[in-house]
Amino acid sequence: MKVIKIGGGCLNGKETIAAILDLLVTRGQGNIIVVSALGGVTDLLLEAMPQAVAEEEAVGRVMDRLKHKHMLVARYLIRDDKDVRAYSRELGKTLARLERLFYGLHYTKDVTPRMVDAISGFGEKICAQLLAAILNARGSKASCRLPEEIGVITDGKFGDATALLVPSENNFQERLACRLNGGQITIIPGFYGINADGETTTFGRGGSDYSAAVFAAISGADVLEIWKDVDGFLSADPKFVPQAKLIPELSYDEAAELAYFGAKILHPRTVEPLRKKGLSIVITNTLRPDKVGSRITARGKAAPGVIKSVAYTTDIAILKVHASGVGKRRGILGEVAASVAARGVNIKSVVTSQTCISLLLSRRDLEPAALALANLHPRPYRKLEKSTNKALIAVVGKGLSTKPGIAAACFSAAAQCQVNIEMIAFGPSPAALYFIVRETDLHKAVTAIHTAFFANPACSI
Ligand code: ASP
Ligand code: MG
Repeated sequence: MKVIKIGGGCLNGKETIAAILDLLVTRGQGNIIVVSALGGVTDLLLEAMPQAVAEEEAVGRVMDRLKHKHMLVARYLIRDDKDVRAYSRELGKTLARLERLFYGLHYTKDVTPRMVDAISGFGEKICAQLLAAILNARGSKASCRLPEEIGVITDGKFGDATALLVPSENNFQERLACRLNGGQITIIPGFYGINADGETTTFGRGGSDYSAAVFAAISGADVLEIWKDVDGFLSADPKFVPQAKLIPELSYDEAAELAYFGAKILHPRTVEPLRKKGLSIVITNTLRPDKVGSRITARGKAAPGVIKSVAYTTDIAILKVHASGVGKRRGILGEVAASVAARGVNIKSVVTSQTCISLLLSRRDLEPAALALANLHPRPYRKLEKSTNKALIAVVGKGLSTKPGIAAACFSAAAQCQVNIEMIAFGPSPAALYFIVRETDLHKAVTAIHTAFFANPACSI
């Protein structure tokens, strides 16, 4: 049995959805299909929340848009009017519950993390119901099962939950396993589970990859297939490097590092639930479903040249906390990190020296983090310095920390095209080396480093 994840990018527009459903008719039987919301729906829900707080009429508008978007697909793909009407009633019931939450938001004016999760999880729910309804109307046997019925239990952290695999697996085996029969297509909304009180807790943006991995782990599946509109991970972003090549096989750590550093193929946490069982992930391009895309396995296959990909992200800003004797002052790192975390800011990485702690943050987190530290009394530092217009380049490949010459090759490639490397982190991960350059140098640097590792065919993946 397989778990197949279908992302919002593949569920965009009625023709695309029709093609996906055709694939499901032949490949979905007996398998579990975990779906995202239709393309753009999660954004729509999130954007509607402040609007609903501001004016009551916004609630009606968002309901109309959701209804229209889903009914458009249903009318296009369901031939029999009776089936269209039945689906419309089912959608109406689900939307009525969502509408009540939106009105609650308007009257309480309280956008709590609990409410954000309760509302944003609806995109996946209405999508799963839609796909199951269409498949049934077209003669396949499909059913929609919700995480709250199955009992996918999380640690309860709204907006960034982690699934508790043991109770979730027990619930799954007890409530769903026996109902999965050979020919059925079982469709489950991704993106959320429930806390101990039965409330929706989401896994964070893009989290339905992670959901699918949870279902693969708890259902006893043989493999997790992620259906996308690309073949998989590439050796670089083809926008910068047109000759970038597909990576046929990656290890869990390589995939996680690449996902973390910008390659928008997979949610960075997807491999976590799979580790214990050692399950593989296969990326399948729905436009070429018979071609094998990237395969992610527990150990991966080493590349002759070690390096598999040069990734980057421009969503990076640096907050330098200048203080003397950092390395000798007990608790200073903890104090800095705790005050930043109290503002809800995530630290992407930290590099320290005796005189400075450099926090690597998402760009939107720079000001809130600086503010958090400025409010500390007494101040455990001398000066704060904000550094923007940067980009982070990550060179990823298992074993790079033990193969001599990798860092030198990166730096000389950068130096040859006059790119200054401003900060490096090498060592924390055996599969990634990363460094900061000016954003204006990014294109040049990625191209030069990719050429350094991949121009020689002996080094190719
Ligand atoms: N629909 C959610 C989002 O857009 C989850 C996902 O697509 O994976 O973040
Ligand atoms: Mg998505």
